[in-house]
Amino acid sequence: MLFPLVKDILSLAPQNQELTVRGWVRTKREMKNLVFVEINDGSCFSGIQCTFDRGAGAFAPGTEEALAALTTGASAEIRGRLVPSPASGQAAEIAVSEITVKGAAPAETYPLQKKQHSLEFLREIAHLRARTNTFGAVARVRNRLAFAVHRFFQERGFQYVNTPVITSSDAEGAGAMFRVTTLDPAKPGPAGYEGDFFGKAAFLTVSGQLEAETYACALSRVYTFGPAFRAENSNTARHLAEFWMIEPETAFAGLEDNMDLAEDFLKCLFTTALNDCAADLAFFNERIGKGVTETLKAAAASTFVRMTYTDAVRELEKAAEKSGTFEFKPYWGCDLQSEHEKFLTEKVAGGPVIVTGYPKEIKAFYMKMNDDGKTVRAMDVLVPRLGEIIGGSQREEDPEKLSRRMAELGMNAEDYSWYLDLRRYGTVPHSGFGLGFERLIQYVTGMANIRDVIPYPRAVGQAEF
Ligand code: ATP
Ligand code: MN
Repeated sequence: MLFPLVKDILSLAPQNQELTVRGWVRTKREMKNLVFVEINDGSCFSGIQCTFDRGAGAFAPGTEEALAALTTGASAEIRGRLVPSPASGQAAEIAVSEITVKGAAPAETYPLQKKQHSLEFLREIAHLRARTNTFGAVARVRNRLAFAVHRFFQERGFQYVNTPVITSSDAEGAGAMFRVTTLDPAKPGPAGYEGDFFGKAAFLTVSGQLEAETYACALSRVYTFGPAFRAENSNTARHLAEFWMIEPETAFAGLEDNMDLAEDFLKCLFTTALNDCAADLAFFNERIGKGVTETLKAAAASTFVRMTYTDAVRELEKAAEKSGTFEFKPYWGCDLQSEHEKFLTEKVAGGPVIVTGYPKEIKAFYMKMNDDGKTVRAMDVLVPRLGEIIGGSQREEDPEKLSRRMAELGMNAEDYSWYLDLRRYGTVPHSGFGLGFERLIQYVTGMANIRDVIPYPRAVGQAEF
């Protein structure tokens, strides 16, 4: 049977009703005959105050012992009546009548005492950090936005597809890949992968896009929401080795439709966060990323600035005339560095920007060529503080042009015959994009490091828990 959570109890009008609160002790304060215990169960940002009044009469035997065991981190079931609270900042509290300690948390060893801990330290105790205000709030925002992702697409006729985690197509070019093998490194066998589990080289996927395209070319609108893996050997605050990606793919849609979809999608997620996670966002706004709610409100109400790569580079070159603006000199043809992306959003647009028409050399093989023969129909959405949050494009739907591009890049057409079949049989213009879920959570919460917006981060040299 499901019992009420703290969030349910806090939504009730206090009318002396008997109920039981379950959760973990955050704080305990004693004032003579009064003991205040704050219980948090993670269902919402706030906990509920349980007040034990020694002067209120006789209590069941063992109650004083139970109270003594209620130290920070202990778990308990507390029975009492829900009464109006005289304290400010809370409408109701529990007048305690009975305490059952479920599990003690000895103060000498419990790592999460009341004092402030650094995010770096908390990463080392990631199995306990969800019990803190910060990580509880991150987890709730993640949960709510995951739900909002499905709702957004389901309401618009997009069907959820599950693309493979293990793949043998290795040339998508999105990033370095992790190999999947059952070969014993201590026992070298014959060269090649014949003796390996799949009989060929296999990897963890960097993106579900190519497979999603096959379903879009049958179901019209699809999206994926699953893990992606990149052996990024870079120690940045925006890259993980394992992250979650949302990839919608739309048949009969061009680049404009794709940009509109991406913009609507992000604004809808920002609005959901503001509406559904107000208490958590208020905390982030005050303690983590000052002004984050204003930024979200402004972005949700804005029209994203759209500019071509060529115009963007012109702006960057102008800014680079003043020495010291950038570490990397911008020029037409360069891959935009994160400092360039941040400049475009923070200094040029003052908000999210969609950049289109990148040089073909710095983008993937499947992107549709523009008439100039030099640029492709790519679109990246950049946001202040982070830079790229979405990368997308219109896909090349012409089998000849796609084959030619693959040949230019030295790719083996045989490996991609299934992908080319989509163009050979009933080809359609189609477009899609990928949103990194953790980048979204970073933007919404203001958390500086991507390792702090996923429960158990995997990055270079880090795979604990
Ligand atoms: P970046 O240039 O920031 O490394 P990318 O261009 O390699 O990203 P895409 O292949 O376009 O990334 O992937 C789509 C989206 O997935 C990106 O816009 C970003 O939000 C997210 N993403 C990509 N790589 C990572 C990563 N290593 N960790 C977390 N999110 C990532
Ligand atoms: Mn990209």
